[in-house]
Amino acid sequence: MPIRPYRPLRRVISAFEDLVFPPICAGCHERGTWLCATCRRDFNVVARPICARCGQPGDEASNVCSHCDAWPAQIGAVRGAFEFGGPLRDAIHRYKYQSEYARAASLSELLVEALERSEFDPNASWDLIAYVPLHARRRRQRGFDQSRLLAKELADRLGLPCTSDLLRIVDTPTQVGRGAAERRLNVLDAFDWKGGPLNGSRILIVDDVITTGATMIAASMPLIRAGADRVDGLAVAREVYR
Ligand SMILES: [Zn+2]
Ligand SMILES: [Zn+2]
Repeated sequence: MPIRPYRPLRRVISAFEDLVFPPICAGCHERGTWLCATCRRDFNVVARPICARCGQPGDEASNVCSHCDAWPAQIGAVRGAFEFGGPLRDAIHRYKYQSEYARAASLSELLVEALERSEFDPNASWDLIAYVPLHARRRRQRGFDQSRLLAKELADRLGLPCTSDLLRIVDTPTQVGRGAAERRLNVLDAFDWKGGPLNGSRILIVDDVITTGATMIAASMPLIRAGADRVDGLAVAREVYR
């Protein structure tokens, strides 16, 4: 899938944003950059082999692990660009919880890197980019939807449409601190698709962090019910359980 360079208008906007929100490295607080080269080197790709489907480290490559063998057949692969931790955790926390939404471009670059290093089947292609949305109430509190900004940046780079018709209709309590089974129940039926039929579509859902994959799968369900042929998931970071 060809990836476009940043458009000139995008550069002007980000130069303006840099004036309003001067960039600061999330890891070491160096000024003038959202992520300095030194902190960037601390990011780790999830160690191989991984489960071909959910992306968690496993014993044998290309095998589907017990964690994800109950997922619907339409779910393709779920990946995180890098392991959640260190300066990347700091960057995502500052982005989400300290209103540093100008970090979206820098974080979405990590999604592009994941595609360039073929985290998915090199022949994989998508018709539509979606994202794991916040509930409207949460979005108003935060002032922005972190996954939406990441998805729009990525869609722009891929030359694909980004849909806002996947909604979170239940304001679920946070997933933080919950076990896998509890996470699954917490987000069950939390999402709805307000768009038209998706017959035969291949969709990539974007999120900031993947933990067990429960939220990503719950968000996929309305798309599958609307007829999507294949749904893949990509997050900036993934928590790894070893
Ligand atoms: Zn740094
Ligand atoms: Zn798996």
